[in-house]
Amino acid sequence: MRTQRQIVDYSLQKRALLRDLHNGKIGTLEVCDASPYLKNAARFHGEPTEDRCPVCRRDNLTLVHYIYGDELKQSAGQARKLTELPVLAMTLREFQVFVVEVCQSCSWNHLIEQFLLGRDALTADELDQGVAAAVASASGRHRETGSSSHRWEGGE
Ligand SMILES: [Zn+2]
Repeated sequence: MRTQRQIVDYSLQKRALLRDLHNGKIGTLEVCDASPYLKNAARFHGEPTEDRCPVCRRDNLTLVHYIYGDELKQSAGQARKLTELPVLAMTLREFQVFVVEVCQSCSWNHLIEQFLLGRDALTADELDQGVAAAVASASGRHRETGSSSHRWEGGE
C-alpha cells in the first residue's frame, strides 16, 4: 500500500517464541490462546494465506488486520478486511494497523507486523489520484452491499 510507513516487523520475536516452543521451554497452551473474538475476526475479516500453521501444521494461517487511531472513533480496535484498508488510508490522515496471524485449528496467534497508513504520507497530486483509485476499487468491491457507493457519490 502506498501510504504504508513506520513498519515494525515482529518475525524475530515470533521465531524466538517458536524455538522456545519446540525446545519445550513453553507449552502449546501458552501460545495457542486465540480468544473467541480473534477467531471470529479471522473467520469474518481475515485474509487467507498459503502458509501452514507453524504449530499444528493442520491449517493455513489467517491474517487479521486491527485498526487503531483517534480518527476512527468507535471503529478503533476493530478488525478490517485487507481490501478495506486502502479506502481508509485515503479518507483518514493517519491510523495504526496491527497484523495478527491466527490458526483457526489450534488457536496459535502472534502479532507479525504493525504499520501506519493514511493520506498524511501523500503529496497533493498523489492524494487526488489515490482517492480516485480507492473510490473506484471500493465501489467495485462493495457492489453486493450497495451501501458504500451512496456515501462516495454524495460529493460532500
Ligand atoms: Zn495451528
